[in-house]
Amino acid sequence: MMQITCPWCGPRDQREFRCGGEAHIKRPADPASTDEAAWADYVFMRTNPKGTHRELWNHVHGCRRWFNMARDTVSDRILAVYAIGEPPFDPDAAPATSEGAAQ
Ligand SMILES: [Zn+2]
Repeated sequence: MMQITCPWCGPRDQREFRCGGEAHIKRPADPASTDEAAWADYVFMRTNPKGTHRELWNHVHGCRRWFNMARDTVSDRILAVYAIGEPPFDPDAAPATSEGAAQ
């Protein structure tokens, strides 16, 4: 069973969390002038990378707070857990740490 380290509660069982999908999706800056194709891209299109994926997670059976997590989709290893509003995790810029790592 995978463990996820909630930034506020510490390590907890994966069953306490729910994934909210891809993180860092940016809403169109000017909704009035955004065409349908751009709206469709914003609402429906998501990446499905083989490797590092940045996701939103919620500790639904704990503190109920949202946070970002970078996870390797091949190994299911958690690379980083970081707060909403922080810049996207870059695996090339920051070495993986044991912080938030699944065991
Ligand atoms: Zn929590």
